[in-house]
Formats: sequence, C-alpha cells, structure tokens
Amino acid sequence: MSTVFEAFFPSERANSSYDINYEGLYEQGYRGIIYDIDNTLVEHGADADGRSVELFKKLMNMGFSVCLLSNNKRERVKRFYDGLAGNDVNMSRIYYIYDAKKPSRRNYRLAMKLMHTKKATTCFIGDQLFTDVYGANRTGIKSLLVKPINKKEEIQIVLKRKLERQVLKFYRRERWMRLRQSNIVLIGFMGSGKTSVGTELARHMGFGYIDTDELIEEQEEMSIKEIFAEKGEQYFRNLETKTLKVLLRTSKKNVICTGGGTPLREENYKLIKNLGYVIYLKASPETIIERLKDDNTRPLLQRPDREKAVKELLDQRKRVYQRLSYMTVDTDGKSIEKIIDEIEKDI
Ligand SMILES: [Mg+2]
Repeated sequence: MSTVFEAFFPSERANSSYDINYEGLYEQGYRGIIYDIDNTLVEHGADADGRSVELFKKLMNMGFSVCLLSNNKRERVKRFYDGLAGNDVNMSRIYYIYDAKKPSRRNYRLAMKLMHTKKATTCFIGDQLFTDVYGANRTGIKSLLVKPINKKEEIQIVLKRKLERQVLKFYRRERWMRLRQSNIVLIGFMGSGKTSVGTELARHMGFGYIDTDELIEEQEEMSIKEIFAEKGEQYFRNLETKTLKVLLRTSKKNVICTGGGTPLREENYKLIKNLGYVIYLKASPETIIERLKDDNTRPLLQRPDREKAVKELLDQRKRVYQRLSYMTVDTDGKSIEKIIDEIEKDI
C-alpha cells in the first residue's frame, strides 16, 4: 500500500531524542546526525540542559559528527550551541545552521558537507513531519521522528499537529501491514515476562506463539535443565542457533520468544535481527529476582549468590539487548495488559 502521505513518513519513530539506540545507528554505519533543536533536544527556546550536554558528550565519544539544523534565528541557535561549548563538550565535530528553511534540501546537504558524511551515513532527528522529516526524506537520508518535548504549543503548531496525526495514522497502518507479514521477537532476561507477554500479545494480534526453549525441549525430549546437565551449555547454544535458522526460513506471523542468553552469540544476533520486529522486555534485577524466587529450572542461576549472579549477567547482557531491539518496554510493576497496550501503541 502506498499513499500520498508517504513523503512525510519517518524512517523510524522514538519517544525522545534521549531514547534512541545510538549504538545501533553507529553499528549500522551512521556517522553524522542532523538535529532539530526546539522540542527535539530541549523545550522551545530553552538552553542546553544537563541531559543534552551528556548526550552530546556521549555522541562525541562514540565518534559521531553532529549538525544542528534549525529554522529558528541565529541568536537562538548559537545560544544552544554555546551552552554545549560552555559545559566542556568537545565542539570540534559539532556544527550549526540557523534560518535553515526546512523542508528545503539545501541546508541538509550543507550539513552533510560540514560533517563530511554521505546520504547513506547521515540521519536526521526532529519533532515535526512537514518540515523536519519531509526535508530529510526529500534529501534522501534516514529520518527519525521524536515526540515533541513540551506538550503546550502555540496555536499554529497545534493545528499542524492535527494534520500530523492524520498522516501518522496512515503511517501506522502501513507499518502494521508490513509487520503482519513478519514476526515479533521478544528478547530479554529470564523473568522479564517474555512468556506471559508473548502469549497474550500473540492472542491480541492473531499471531501464533513460539518459544524457542520449548521447541528445543520438544525436539530433544529433555528439559533445558537436563540438556545443560547432560550435554553442556555449548550443545544447547548450538541447538538455539539451529532453531533460529529453521524459524528464519519458515516462520511468519508469530510472536517468537527467545532464551535470555540467545542474542549473545554473534550468529544468533544476526538471525534474530532478520527474523522480525525485535522488542526488548526490560526488568530491574530486583523484579527479576522476585519473579524467579521459586524457580529452580534456570541452570545459570543454580548458585547460592543468586542476586549477584542476576546483576552480573544483566549487566553483561543489557547492552546487547538494547542494541538489537527496535523498541524497549519497561515491565517493572506493570500488568500484562499495560505492557501489551504500550507495545500496540508504539509498534
Ligand atoms: Mg522542532
């Protein structure tokens, strides 16, 4: 399905500029980020604040170049830039363009020139469809739409937002159509709720439900615990890879739950990425320990110092989970209904 609104569709959406998987972008080869400022990085007209300073420090450490691209006046844009400079951000790869006249392509191109990046290695992040995203799409670069930081806006923008909502409705419908031909993959630590969320999500979507651990148990006619004990972890991990390969060839319209350790193997990571829309169910160590307290089927936790084991494993794994997923859902203290609701709203 294609619509007249397609020119305004963002490549991706995120809740906030502070909630984007920058490691993932870097891994995919992106080296330059063009940012809108107002309502994308800070509230309209506001100076650089603590979290924007932290974000820019992180991006500079990672090796990104950044260009601020604003339709606002020189004074406003320079003030934001100076705020970063005054807080010890390394400014050697940060540029700014004011009065940019987005959606005109001209200054997106200038931004790439300044950053020494190409279309394929540049992405744009902004909060408005008809200026920010449309301009990036016309230029031919990846566009990320974030939710505006302040809710209260001037009347002309309020009207524009109404139109944006119409376009986003089409956008979501089209994504949904595409998603319906694919799978949803849930990743996350044991005890993060994959099984309970997965079965319910499958029911909601009219998808099948597949648990890779269960498939392996059926195939081997042994429990995971027994496989670990009798054949060892390596043997089990090989089975996981084999299972993912089969699913990649055959699975469609399923919610697929993976084992907590599955994405850690490089080969599995790639298989999962190709399998469908990946969602990371996130839980705190406290929640996980509480949920697993009566569970003795988890081979990796059969140690006296469970708490320490969970914290260590979680620490090792969370970066991989974060990098692999398109969406992260916090599950701490939330009902299954609430979690499903959040997934469906953002998918
Ligand atoms: Mg803006």
